[in-house]
Amino acid sequence: MKVHLKQIPAQGLHLEGEEDCPIQDLESEGIRCVGRLHYDLDLGVAGGALWANGSLSQPVELRCVSCLEKFVHEIRVPAFAVHMELHGPETVDLTPSIREEILLNLPAHPHCDRDGDRVCKAKQVKRVKTTGQQMKRKSDWSALDRLKLKS
Ligand SMILES: [Zn+2]
Repeated sequence: MKVHLKQIPAQGLHLEGEEDCPIQDLESEGIRCVGRLHYDLDLGVAGGALWANGSLSQPVELRCVSCLEKFVHEIRVPAFAVHMELHGPETVDLTPSIREEILLNLPAHPHCDRDGDRVCKAKQVKRVKTTGQQMKRKSDWSALDRLKLKS
């Protein structure tokens, strides 16, 4: 995301739009972009530096560490902020900063139920096992009851 300094008026500039996903090279690590980067930023130039702040979001497909299923997660950066010293060039590329911030907000151990809109299959299996154990315990008791009746 390149910004031309000449396009930034003294009172600042509001930029909102979409860009290509900045982390497309992570596909080999099981992280796949499933949409474009959305940005909503305020930019300005002050004291020989460029500042920008706003929010970013990037939908990605991740693999759950528990059930190994793929799921879509939206990486959100609600308070993106950069401050860059200007050294002459007329354009400033914000992509490296945006990419870094998206990476920082990427879950290190993604769980498919983290957003609360689905139940992880790995946890479902665990729950079934617990119920099975409870049933077994019940039948143990009934065996004991039968023993008591005999005696
Ligand atoms: Zn899962």
